[in-house]
Amino acid sequence: MTFNKHIANHIRDIPKSGIREFFDIVAQEKEVISLGVGEPDFDTPWHIREAAIYSLEHGRTHYTSNLGLPELRASICKYVQKHFHVGYDPRTEVIITVGVSEAIDLALRAVLNPGDEVLYHEPCYVSYSPSVVMAHGKAVAVPTRAEDQFRLTAEALAAHITPRSKVLMLNFPCNPTGATQTRAELEKIARLCIDHDLIVLTDEIYSELTYDNAEHVSIASLPGMRERCVFLHGFSKAFAMTGWRIGYACAPGWLTDAMMKIHQYAILCANTTSQDAAIEALEHGAHGVDSMRREYEHRRNYIVRAFNDLGLSCHKPVGAFYIFPNISSTGLTSREFSLGLLEKKKVACVPGPAFGASGEGFVRCCYATSLDQIKVAMDRIGEFVAESKK
Ligand code: PLP
Repeated sequence: MTFNKHIANHIRDIPKSGIREFFDIVAQEKEVISLGVGEPDFDTPWHIREAAIYSLEHGRTHYTSNLGLPELRASICKYVQKHFHVGYDPRTEVIITVGVSEAIDLALRAVLNPGDEVLYHEPCYVSYSPSVVMAHGKAVAVPTRAEDQFRLTAEALAAHITPRSKVLMLNFPCNPTGATQTRAELEKIARLCIDHDLIVLTDEIYSELTYDNAEHVSIASLPGMRERCVFLHGFSKAFAMTGWRIGYACAPGWLTDAMMKIHQYAILCANTTSQDAAIEALEHGAHGVDSMRREYEHRRNYIVRAFNDLGLSCHKPVGAFYIFPNISSTGLTSREFSLGLLEKKKVACVPGPAFGASGEGFVRCCYATSLDQIKVAMDRIGEFVAESKK
């Protein structure tokens, strides 16, 4: 007897994550070098862990306010003002969430009516399309191209806007392509958002990981945009805090009020220990972020060169810790390449279509692993490519 009929239709139809599916296969293999998982290989800096220990030792084991600790909200507003040039009121315009993941879900559920369209650039983070569907919206992918270094152009966006478009989701620096956006392009996109009255979810979780002294611009800082933006950020990537499950959303009060209606009942509040650790990260964590960023930059330089030397073309992304090389010269599909590489050479990467159909012909490689491991992985990829071409 099957009870599957009881699953809500819109949930039943959500496909299994292309990354998860692939990692179920990776889990069965031994001694794999993983360029697959999108998380820092560094442990959380010790002083941040100490703040958590101190918090527990002092009995801070209770619920916080629904919005999150006032001291953390104050730190966040200071940080966002300093680094992103957007001002928020810590009393009413910040919600501490269970990672950026919860913040995305809250924001979408707060604004979407059934059938409303949500635009996002693709290839994109795996959760975007399912999160839209879970909020009863319609996901509308705007493909980006390797020739444009996977930047979203205002022209491509304009071509996908309809009278049902309500939200635009942006993620720069981008997972999986590492793409960043120029101020000039963001200004054109902002103009479109104002003209078409779009709400913008701007996921800037990789913003600290920007290389070559490139400027990171938040669309929320552009004229007329603060009022229609939900600024999403967190601690997972820059502070190496994936397991702490802590992030935040900043938005004008009309949006945070709606998001709070869900958060206060569904979650109550984010984890108290993690909130205390997050204060330490923001107040004293800059040095750790800098040293991790320098190491990522060094690895990026190596891996980009190594892929291009193999004839697998790959632009040099200015952000995040991913590269997205074109593997089509091997004559293999993304899935064949990833599965073959895993089986024959024990190196894991993620097939591009896990991030949307426009990812076909590409694979995502994460360089948040040691340079020594990356060097061995690249030697093996070289052998695999040579054998595939025979
Ligand atoms: N947004 C992007 C673009 C991501 O790549 C990830 C994780 O990989 C998340 C959000 C989830 O972040 P968090 O750990 O804060 O939930």
